Amino acid sequence: MAVPFRRTSKTAKRKRRSHLKIAVPGMVKCPNCGEYVKPHHVCRECGHYNGKEVISVEASD
Ligand SMILES: [Zn+2]
Repeated sequence: MAVPFRRTSKTAKRKRRSHLKIAVPGMVKCPNCGEYVKPHHVCRECGHYNGKEVISVEASD
């Protein structure tokens, strides 16, 4: 069995793992308010879809 010549340093390990991250799956930014929304869904923050306000926004707490 092959054995690594050197122990991987903390820095090398952390640099390698810097690319291991979970992306938010299937979310796009609302072009009106910038909130993350599901594609092909009305934005829950501002009620916009396809550049128009399609539902009125209820007053939030
Ligand atoms: Zn929005």
